[in-house]
Amino acid sequence: MVASTPRPVAVEWLRRWPLWTAPFGLVSYLLAVVSVAAGLGVAGLVTAPPHLVQWASAVMLVGCGVVCVEASRRVGEPAGIAKDLLSAWTLPIALLLPPVLALLAPVPLIALKQIRVRSGLVYRRVFTAAAIGLANGSASVVFHRLTANADPHGGTFLLTSSAVLAAALCCGALCSAVNVVLIATAARLTSPEVRWWDLLGDREQRLLDAGEICLGVVVTGCWTVTPLLALVMLWPIVLVQRGMTHAQLRAAARTDPKTGLLNAGAWEQEADREIVRATRERRPLAILLADLDHFKQVNDIHGHLVGDQVLLSASQALGAGLRQYDLLGRFGGEEFAMLLPNADHNEACQIAERVRRQMVVAPVVAGDAVVEVTVSIGVATLGKHGTDLTDLLTAADLALYRAKANGRNQVALAPTAGGA
Ligand code: GH3
Ligand code: MG
Ligand code: MG
Repeated sequence: MVASTPRPVAVEWLRRWPLWTAPFGLVSYLLAVVSVAAGLGVAGLVTAPPHLVQWASAVMLVGCGVVCVEASRRVGEPAGIAKDLLSAWTLPIALLLPPVLALLAPVPLIALKQIRVRSGLVYRRVFTAAAIGLANGSASVVFHRLTANADPHGGTFLLTSSAVLAAALCCGALCSAVNVVLIATAARLTSPEVRWWDLLGDREQRLLDAGEICLGVVVTGCWTVTPLLALVMLWPIVLVQRGMTHAQLRAAARTDPKTGLLNAGAWEQEADREIVRATRERRPLAILLADLDHFKQVNDIHGHLVGDQVLLSASQALGAGLRQYDLLGRFGGEEFAMLLPNADHNEACQIAERVRRQMVVAPVVAGDAVVEVTVSIGVATLGKHGTDLTDLLTAADLALYRAKANGRNQVALAPTAGGA
């Protein structure tokens, strides 16, 4: 037997990085973005090193960001993409200081979040820092080009020139757009089945971005008058940041992380409320319980990760079959619950049938595999099958059992008290 030579410790350590478990396309993309950011950072420092005063300004603005991170540390940070107001401090760096400082500014802030707030996957944090750095850097380059003749320390900068103000807002928007596209591309490489539109964020996120840009431009304006005025902004920004983090944590506690749907507890809470309202107003209402057919086989054949992707796609297909105001939640492993306000018996059956067909026509592409899943659905209606959520869920579950027993991939009705 030949004894194998032990690998150097550094190589072993490198081999164990969780990064290597990501898909090849994603790994290449992350490495490319981080390398470009690091290369530009080094080149910027070597070719045009910032002056001491510029370093000092950057350190003060980053210091304000540090205070924001520390102030909301106890509140915590939701998993996934969390929104914060740090660009209120990094945008002024991009607009007032050399691009290389804008590129580097996110590094200490993201490192602080990793160490003090929530320790996430290191490669994700590094990529986030690189993506935000590139976004800030590009906004900085464009802004300096656009305002080459304006004096950033002239007092009138930003405040009296509407052209410069417009340029600052546009560059803030550019910064936000570059960041969103870089991050969405990584998310798309992780989950190719998710639509670009969903990855780019909803209207609410864009409104938050717009607010963040405005805040960044206001802090920039204050800074050009006197840095002390910008420091006055620190307290309100900390308060707003804490409020935002609270709201995001509350939303995360109600959301199923794999599908983005309401989790069982949140769905039941909402459903209870809808049932009380429908009873009071004597309006019809129906509950559907859906269970993916032979889902265990999907896991057994393709593995759990593909199983998770199928769950996500299935949740989207179910949603596509529903009306806009229906309430969809993940009820358990591969079970989904739907509440249909204003749907009588006939309409509930039509919707359930549409949802079932939607699954059939939407096979899931997961890597090289095309996975076709079907769904069985049980239907129960308010009044006919019960008067509260527990009754309705029990009836829908019985109906679901019927659909399974009759061969799956079908809709079944709950038996009424008088018979089938
Ligand atoms: P049936 O048609 O009778 O419903 O068969 P089934 O295989 O779908 O049902 P069964 O209850 O036997 O198996 C459900 C499977 O769902 C087993 C479990 O591993 C899987 N599952 C539950 N939650 C998750 C999840 O979050 N991710 C993945 N990948 N699989 C899950
Ligand atoms: Mg099942
Ligand atoms: Mg099940």
